[in-house]
Amino acid sequence: MTGSLVVVGTGPGKHELMTPATQAALAAATDLVGYGPYLDRVPMLRADQCRHASDNRVELDRARHALALAASGRRVAVVSGGDPGVFAMAAAIFEAVESGDPVWRTLDIRVEPGVTAMLAAAAEVGAPLGGDFCAISLSDNLKDWATIERRLKAAAEADFVIALYNPASKARPHQLGEAFALLRTVKAGETPVLFVRAAGSVEVKVVATILADADASVADMRTLVIVGASTTRRVGRWIYTPRGAKS
Ligand code: SAH
Repeated sequence: MTGSLVVVGTGPGKHELMTPATQAALAAATDLVGYGPYLDRVPMLRADQCRHASDNRVELDRARHALALAASGRRVAVVSGGDPGVFAMAAAIFEAVESGDPVWRTLDIRVEPGVTAMLAAAAEVGAPLGGDFCAISLSDNLKDWATIERRLKAAAEADFVIALYNPASKARPHQLGEAFALLRTVKAGETPVLFVRAAGSVEVKVVATILADADASVADMRTLVIVGASTTRRVGRWIYTPRGAKS
């Protein structure tokens, strides 16, 4: 038996937003590897399938474990939420390949895309990502806060719509407030700000406000924050960013 490894994204929550390609990859796997709550979203597909649940913080160990299983001949699916390539396991797998056993470079490794949180969040409110936008993770587990601040400032000065992943966690309660304070030095107070919690799931909750009033305590680990560009605006009950811009 030849082993393989596929990194899949289960989408933002709703089963209909999981792609058929991801469902097929999950059904074909002998082993599922992932963060416990993400694995719990995957229904039992075959009786002989092994599940290896792990803690959220040990991504590189989880990646090495998955690669070792694939090298031993198992068909492994590594499960992420959203898209596996966006602040998630696909990059962790390649980091582990780069620093690990040279044999891992010859493995059959594939990535199946998924609907990432910012796309699900944007769709809940209209089309806020309709013009140029960028995505920044506020987590400073793997990068320093100075880097995050530099990127926020550059994105604000370039008038991008900014999608903020990992806006808050119990371990990092203050960063979103600091990010808003920094963005207020560049972007106008009336800039639309959206807090979309559990986008693309039945529990979705949207708070729409403006940068001057944005309260960081609204966000938690399941929230995606979108900060508009100067052109982002309301039309009826929707919020959108026109495709064009002039400087
Ligand atoms: N790979 C994931 C992102 C992992 S980072 C993806 O592509 O969506 C984890 C962060 O993603 C969370 O802190 C939150 O900011 C965001 N997120 C994930 N799922 C979400 C959802 N359903 N609704 C809103 N934000 C979500």
